[in-house]
Amino acid sequence: MPYDVIVVGAGPAGSIAAHDCVRAGLKTLLLEKFTLPRNKACGGAVMFRGLHILKGQFPESLVEQKIHGLRFMLSNGDSAEFKSDKMLGITVFRNRFDEFLARRATRAGAELLEVARATGVLLSREGVAVQLSDGREFTSKFVVGADGVNSTVARCTGLRPERKDLNRVGLGMESDFHVGEDGVLKATTGDPSILLLVPVENRVSYGWVFPKKEHLCVGIAGVAAHMQRLRPIFDSFVAKMEKKLGVRLNSTKRRVHFLGADGVTSRNVTTRVILVGDAAGFVDPMMGEGIAYAMKSGVHAARVITNAFEDNRSDVEYLEWYQRLCSKEFGANFRMAEWAGLRGTSFTESVLSRASGQPLASEILTMLARGEIGYSEIPQTVVKNLPRELPRLLRRVVESRVSGSPRKGS
Ligand SMILES: Cc1cc2nc3c(=O)[nH]c(=O)nc-3n(C[C@H](O)[C@H](O)[C@H](O)COP(=O)(O)OP(=O)(O)OC[C@H]3O[C@@H](n4cnc5c(N)ncnc54)[C@H](O)[C@@H]3O)c2cc1C
Repeated sequence: MPYDVIVVGAGPAGSIAAHDCVRAGLKTLLLEKFTLPRNKACGGAVMFRGLHILKGQFPESLVEQKIHGLRFMLSNGDSAEFKSDKMLGITVFRNRFDEFLARRATRAGAELLEVARATGVLLSREGVAVQLSDGREFTSKFVVGADGVNSTVARCTGLRPERKDLNRVGLGMESDFHVGEDGVLKATTGDPSILLLVPVENRVSYGWVFPKKEHLCVGIAGVAAHMQRLRPIFDSFVAKMEKKLGVRLNSTKRRVHFLGADGVTSRNVTTRVILVGDAAGFVDPMMGEGIAYAMKSGVHAARVITNAFEDNRSDVEYLEWYQRLCSKEFGANFRMAEWAGLRGTSFTESVLSRASGQPLASEILTMLARGEIGYSEIPQTVVKNLPRELPRLLRRVVESRVSGSPRKGS
């Protein structure tokens, strides 16, 4: 076999998988259907949970803003804010961030082939053949399907159906509006380290304004089945944000893309094949966050394939180890996010407004963003810290009884 591993798709999941495979000594080919840098519809918020995989080794020039907090705009006009001294993540332009990851893989020794669109994947006893749209064919012992939410690898190997269930996948639209540094400062009331999340009407789950150096990324996302009139909903959200933030958002190119789903409840491996990132559906079902999960799944896929080589195995039973690693790491987060999402905006808003300004809530958010705890560990983290927080909570209850309304942050 000319290659040990072929990775299809040079997004964050594929480039991390290719990098780690080649670093483990495997002959690795990375296929990308576009020329890099390529655009990708995305808010560009990369949580520390994923970033730490790079061990701080990325150029400062990729960092648009360092994220230190989140502000949720509530439908009653109030907002709930959580801030931290620690960095929660960064905002980036996806074209530059993704190209950096792909070049990092090639610097480690992976071969990158651009303008190489995979159209077929054929499994045989000896290995896997990946066919390209221009008729070329490459063979390897393993294939990593990192080709995003419309994954060809997933369809060709029977891991996903031909047609998407629009009730099960997300759809999002976003644009980067150039407002200049002054515009960014004005829109963020002087603090561009805070990501703004906003509820949107029409059953769209949420909208966002993510500050970059000179741009504001404004976007909306929700369940695809509810997003038929995506463009007018997006335009009205942009107009609302323009008014709210006091900056002019001049019309610019809108980008639209599906979001993956059902990652931990679906099969992501078959003989010689592993799906990663959006191809597998590893996206937070409430927030639509997927970059960190894509990067982590790339790490897990490379680890399992490297071990499979050493153990001379390529069967599905062996590769199910990957499935277990991802379920263990992401499963509880996704289940909790789905549970909260199903309870609707009013539930989320009532939790957020109660938690707003509470130091413990900001600490928990920081731990989540940095990957120190998962969503499922929130209750035990609260309980562990309760003795420390109790006097403050009691004071808050007493004060709210006296004044008749809850005070935030006291
Ligand atoms: C509107 C929107 C906003 C989002 N905002 C955020 C955010 O702020 N933060 C966050 O964490 N997540 C966000 N996400 C989710 C995030 O973009 C994805 O989870 C992430 O890009 C997944 O990475 P990936 O490497 O799996 O796939 P992708 O980034 O989609 O990369 C797949 C790659 O495969 C290539 N490819 C596809 N088909 C083929 C083929 N047949 N042959 C060869 N190459 C192929 C593509 O060109 C692409 O380069 C957002 C998603 C959307 C839609």
